Parts: sequence; C-alpha cells; structure tokens
Amino acid sequence: MKIGTRLIHHPGSTCPRTGALSTPIHQVSTFKRASVDQRQGYDYSRTANPTRDVLEQYIATLEGGKHGFAFSSGMAAISTSLMLLESGDHIVATEGLYGGTHRILTKLFPRFGIESSFVDTGDGAAVEQALTDRTRAILVETPSNPMMKISDLTELSAIARERDVVLMVDNTFMSPYLQRPLEMGTDIVIHSATKYLGGHSDLIAGLVVVNEGKLAKEIQFRQNAVGAVPSPFDCWLLMRGMKTLKARMDAQQESARRIAEWLVERDEVERVLYPGLDTHPNHNIHAEQASGGGAMLSCIMQDEDIAKQVAEGVKLWSLAVSLGSVESIITLPARMTHLSYPADERERLGIDNRLIRLSVGLEDTDDLIDDLEQSMAS
Ligand SMILES: *Cc1c(COP(=O)(O)O)cnc(C)c1O
Repeated sequence: MKIGTRLIHHPGSTCPRTGALSTPIHQVSTFKRASVDQRQGYDYSRTANPTRDVLEQYIATLEGGKHGFAFSSGMAAISTSLMLLESGDHIVATEGLYGGTHRILTKLFPRFGIESSFVDTGDGAAVEQALTDRTRAILVETPSNPMMKISDLTELSAIARERDVVLMVDNTFMSPYLQRPLEMGTDIVIHSATKYLGGHSDLIAGLVVVNEGKLAKEIQFRQNAVGAVPSPFDCWLLMRGMKTLKARMDAQQESARRIAEWLVERDEVERVLYPGLDTHPNHNIHAEQASGGGAMLSCIMQDEDIAKQVAEGVKLWSLAVSLGSVESIITLPARMTHLSYPADERERLGIDNRLIRLSVGLEDTDDLIDDLEQSMAS
C-alpha cells in the first residue's frame, strides 16, 4: 500500500472492539492486574498506553520501520534517543541544526561527558574527518534548519555502518510522506511531531522510529525510565492531524514552490533556499531521497532592514517560531529560533539578520504572495 493509503488505514485505525473509526482515548494511568505477578497486557501508562500504542504503530508504519515511540516533545524524543550514549562518547552533528538540538548538545550533554562536533554533513569527507574512536552517533538534519542544506543519507549510512556508529536523522522538515530515512539505512528517525505530523499548531509531541530489535529495546527502556511521554489525548489529537498529512503536504508544497519561484524574481531577495529548485545545492541528491521539495523555504534578503520590514509588515503570515502548520509562518531564525548559537557561529553559517524562513501553510497562494509583496513595498 502506498503512503497516502497508509495514512488513513493503519494498524489500530479502526478500534477492534467497537469498530470505532477514531482511536479511543484511553485516559488512564494504571491498569488492574489479574494477580500480583500477572499483568493483563497493560500496567502503567508511562510504560505503555493503548492510545499511545496505536500512534507508535502508526508512525512506524509510515516510516517503513518496525518500532515506533512517542514522546512529549521533539526535544524529549531527541534527548531520550541521545541517552543511548555514555560519558566519553562523541557525536558528529549537522552544523546549523535546530537551535534546541544545538542547545542540548553544547550546554547539557557536555556536562555528562558527551561532546559534539558540528560539520557540513552534506560533505561525506568532512564527516569522516570529524569521526574519532569515541564517535558513537551521527545526527543529521536534511534539509537542515534554516539553511536547507542537503545531506546524502545513503552515503552517511554507509559511513555509519563502516565505522559502527548510529545514524540518527531528524526528519521533521520532510515528514514520512516525503522522505523515509530508514529505507536508506538510517538507524533512528526522529520527528518533532509538533510540526507537519500534528499540522495544526495545537500540540507539542515527538516521535522516534527504529528497525532493529536491540535498539528498540534500548529506546523503550529509556522512554519508560525517563518518562517524557505524551498524554493519551495528545496522542489522539496527533493522529487526528496525521490523517490529512498527504492533502496538507501536497497543497503546501505546491504553494511553496510557487512562492519560491516568485521570490527568485524579486530585487529585494538575494537568494532563495528551497530544495525543490533545481538550482539548490545538492538538489539532485534531495530529489533522489525525497519525493518533493517540501513546504519550508528560507531566503536571504538584500539587507537586514528589508528582512525586518517583511517580517513585521506581513498581515496574513504570522510572525512566530515553529513550522509545518496550516497557517503560514514567517521567522527570523537569527533572532528567534537560533539564539542558542554564539553570534560569530551564526554569522559563519549564514544565519544572520538578512535571513527569513517561511513555513508555507494552506492559505490561497495568491493571497500569500500579495501579502509578501505589500510588505516589501511598504
Ligand atoms: C521544532 C523542532 C524540534 C524540536 O521539537 P519540539 O517538538 O519543539 O520539542 C527538533 N527538530 C526540528 C528540526 C524542529 O523543527
């Protein structure tokens, strides 16, 4: 079955007991035992919950993986997965990756003896050079946030295999509808489900999918031990959003392409960063590993005054952090999402005050373009 169908018909999408076409919300913390030593399937909702179970199988099915895990946020999903590492271990991560991930890698995990190096993971040789005997994980975002840099997942998974390190991919920007990293040899796929999977700016959640049984056991142990799990209601709400992922992504992506093409022609814009443009660096690699350019794009404006003018002058676009929702969102990453980076590091990566990031929503494209145009003229 194709993914458009799997988004609607997945294990547990119909309740086996009642035939309900919406997964029941099991709003419960604890489950009665048959005897002291005998559980009847479930025991305590931090460990497992029937509503969460359906969500976990759902995301596993979508990513083409065997085991799914749900968390209370994308950061909880990433942090819990990184707890696979121990003191003395080293991580190679995509430079310029999501600010919150950068923050835990530079400000939190070093306190437990886990260090990270940040490199352009689009450059396989640079990744190999950054690997040390202590490297246990490669953590990748492709396209990266917000510079939209592309990394070759097949190449990275070959490097990871050869050096016996775990390849983790944050697939938030693409969603499993457009890109399925496990199919290219990735070990752990991570989502901020807050974004495209939820899709409606109404919840915070994270998801993880793996194939390998031993890895699944280790993650399950940490999910239960750390306990950063979503509520049954949030699991249900997330699944409600996920059902329309195909329709949303198709429409948002089509709109993003038109907006990218419009921006390319504007004098106020120096460069448009959108993986769907065939001029985008590594466009061919992206086209091979994903089935579309997605609905996120960044653009480097001619100067920082015009960037600020657009961000504050739009009326329909919301000036906000976050992305992947039905509402179009405009962000100035240097001042809103990537503050955890030191200023000189941001500058080096091109995350400066001229850069604006656009998350294209479901509004009519003409209205979105008109709004950008009036903000540039004002
Ligand atoms: C938002 C985001 C995260 C963090 O997810 P939360 O749900 O906000 O905790 C991680 N990675 C990327 C790429 C994101 O956009």
